[in-house]
Amino acid sequence: MMKNGYQGPVEQAGSQPAAEIDRICTETGAIAKLPLYLEEKGFERASLVVDRTTYEAAGRGLEAAVSRTGIRVHTTIILPDAEGDVIADEASIIQLILDIQNHGAEVVLAVGGGTLHDICRYSAYTAGIPFISIPTAPSVDGFNSKGAPIIVRGEKKTILAIGPLAIFADLDILVQAPSRLVAAGFGDMLGKYTSLFDWKFEAVVTGGLYLEKSAEMTRAALESCVRAAESIAARQEDGIRTLMSALVESGLAMLLFGQSHPASGAEHHLSHYWEMEYLRLGKRQLLHGAKVGVACMEISQLYRRIAHEGPAPWMLRDGFMNPEKDAGQTIAARWEEICRELGRIPEPEQLTELLAAAGGPVSIAELGVSSELLARSLREAHRVRPGRFTLLKAYNERATAR
Ligand SMILES: [Zn+2]
Repeated sequence: MMKNGYQGPVEQAGSQPAAEIDRICTETGAIAKLPLYLEEKGFERASLVVDRTTYEAAGRGLEAAVSRTGIRVHTTIILPDAEGDVIADEASIIQLILDIQNHGAEVVLAVGGGTLHDICRYSAYTAGIPFISIPTAPSVDGFNSKGAPIIVRGEKKTILAIGPLAIFADLDILVQAPSRLVAAGFGDMLGKYTSLFDWKFEAVVTGGLYLEKSAEMTRAALESCVRAAESIAARQEDGIRTLMSALVESGLAMLLFGQSHPASGAEHHLSHYWEMEYLRLGKRQLLHGAKVGVACMEISQLYRRIAHEGPAPWMLRDGFMNPEKDAGQTIAARWEEICRELGRIPEPEQLTELLAAAGGPVSIAELGVSSELLARSLREAHRVRPGRFTLLKAYNERATAR
């Protein structure tokens, strides 16, 4: 094991070109094509990874279909933790790595949602074998990411691992996904409104890297989802195809840029902050995309308030440290451009309507996050990604100088 070597906790992703994904199949009956694909690739032993729910939804049928080709399949059912959640922690990862080793698996088939993919991504990477993504719900944009957020001794770390060899997203299965998971995927996509703003903001103020192509891919994916909101909410095949394709596109845009900027800004930092708090308190985790959707609405509200204050507060003495010590002046000087970009984020009310249309939580109250936690996260969440210069970070650092 450890053929690739542990690379430590890193945040940056490498520059894996999107083309490294050998095959992306988003269609009805996609799973039926997987056994032949495995044969073509010459795999003889596969490790099929599910949780109890996804085994019934897709795992059992796939296990039988792959076995019929003569490929030896070993199924690992990842067990939930004490709160009933499947989480990407030491217990789940070691459970899978041991099964991969005992079975001599040459490929991992990840059948499930985002967390199950993270368990598979890190375990396959550690064992030095590829994994294939078989999403069972259009719930998150991380299926084709290279980073594995895993939980070690209660702390979440994102580790550079591997992206999938291929994605087989079967619409017959995805349309059956519970509506709260579909709404979460939609919420994760809505979050791109604020992540795209924060990325542009960082580029304008600090001269950070910006890739137009990657931003355009992300915005096109986001807008396709917004146009299809009704059909997504009704879980019609067209809507689910649009959402799943958008989630994959968003992942590809991140791979193209090599970092998470296109798809993750202050709204994701709030979501991570809430998640860490829930981990500390031992509370049941909320769905990632549900948090991101509500966080996007909160950030839209805050950013509009900041825009309303005008450029004057940025011209006063500021508390920015190197390398952003001139940020206040730059923000004031490029105020109009920043406000123009801000105008591309919908009003909080519009975001609430979209979230409601998709059937997800529309407020922190519905989500179950307290107003105390929200207020604290708005002051501190930028610290979860110290390398990113979001407007949230700029605003909070400006405040400390007063
Ligand atoms: Zn996300």
